[in-house]
Amino acid sequence: MRTLDDLDVKGRRVLVRADLNVPLDGETITDDGRIRASLPTIQALAGSGAKVIVCAHLGRPKGQVKPEFSLRPVARRLGELLGQDVVFASDVAGDGARAAVEGLQEGQVALLENLRFEPGETAKDDAERRAFAERLAGLADLYVGDGFGAVHRKHASVYDVPALLPHAAGGLVTAEVEVLRKLTDDTERPYVVVLGGAKVSDKLGVIANLLTSVDRLLIGGGMAYTFLKAQGHEVGGSLLQEDQLDQVRGFLSEAAERGVDLVLPVDVLAATHFAADAGYDVVPATEIPADRQGLDIGPRTRELFASKLADARTVFWNGPMGVFEFDEFAGGTAAVAKALIASDAFTVVGGGDSAAAVRRLGLPEDGFSHISTGGGASLEYLEGKTLPGLAALED
Ligand code: ADP
Ligand code: MG
Repeated sequence: MRTLDDLDVKGRRVLVRADLNVPLDGETITDDGRIRASLPTIQALAGSGAKVIVCAHLGRPKGQVKPEFSLRPVARRLGELLGQDVVFASDVAGDGARAAVEGLQEGQVALLENLRFEPGETAKDDAERRAFAERLAGLADLYVGDGFGAVHRKHASVYDVPALLPHAAGGLVTAEVEVLRKLTDDTERPYVVVLGGAKVSDKLGVIANLLTSVDRLLIGGGMAYTFLKAQGHEVGGSLLQEDQLDQVRGFLSEAAERGVDLVLPVDVLAATHFAADAGYDVVPATEIPADRQGLDIGPRTRELFASKLADARTVFWNGPMGVFEFDEFAGGTAAVAKALIASDAFTVVGGGDSAAAVRRLGLPEDGFSHISTGGGASLEYLEGKTLPGLAALED
């Protein structure tokens, strides 16, 4: 993959696909981690005298102009963090975008409006996507792919534009790929993966692939209950995906055959209902009352998971251990995060909610070797899939 060093950018218009998909509360950005992660590449380009045109998506406006999904608040924050004005284009690739780009001096930065206001960005139809990609590419001389959180999408700005312009990978994409390689090639062992989050169905592919490579797989969060049920235990009102039970039984027997230590919760916080102030009891994972739901892993499980992480050399963690958005049920997630921080292993956090949990719990981000900006992208990489946005940068 070509990197920024391979491009001569001075005086040229460089289109940077970034991942600026931040959580918003109205117009307030509640977590600007992804904007911060995009800064080094934008700064390097501006510092080399490029005219920098940043493009990105926000949320799912589904091909329509919806003001609540405007990137305008992001342009403001990006400008604050860069310490220079960011020109905000009033559209994606129309008159507004052209005017913004024409006015750029060397070292200046513009941000285009939300890519997903254009139906062509996410179109399944190749010709429709390509037509939009040509409009976007027409704004620039060079392309830099740096939106790691979107590289698993076959979208115009990710997949088609690099075929139309000389291109390179940005610093964020290069760094993320380097980290993921350490999880797939010559991984230092013991290699332990901790998975949590809400739905087991989101993570079937990655579980199947991880069972061929990990030494231990620790499962918490909402998805653990489908595993417990697959073992024959009742899980009360806990999150359960009945339609995944057969698949999960298959995982349990494959883990046993391959000698993978698949570790499930031994106790849970069984809550009366799904609420921040719900009452709860600590119960064995095999004895969840019918009228209760597990909202976090219990204290014995926290210790068990920490002990399974203590001697690890490589750790990948994706998905919270409980409903961390409720303080009372954030303890399991905090315990796993602290076990990673305490370990000497190469530790990688993937997943938007997991990264948000680390920040929400006030834990030091530099306590981990790497916090990935792309949950879906990192999971698909670990699944062994070809990621369209990386493949497009290869050739
Ligand atoms: P990530 O974004 O890190 O990949 P996911 O999106 O898969 O994580 O899952 C995050 C969500 O899982 C959180 O909103 C959290 O509240 C939820 N969750 C975790 N444990 C449970 C549980 N026991 N019951 C219900 N939801 C849960
Ligand atoms: Mg998530």
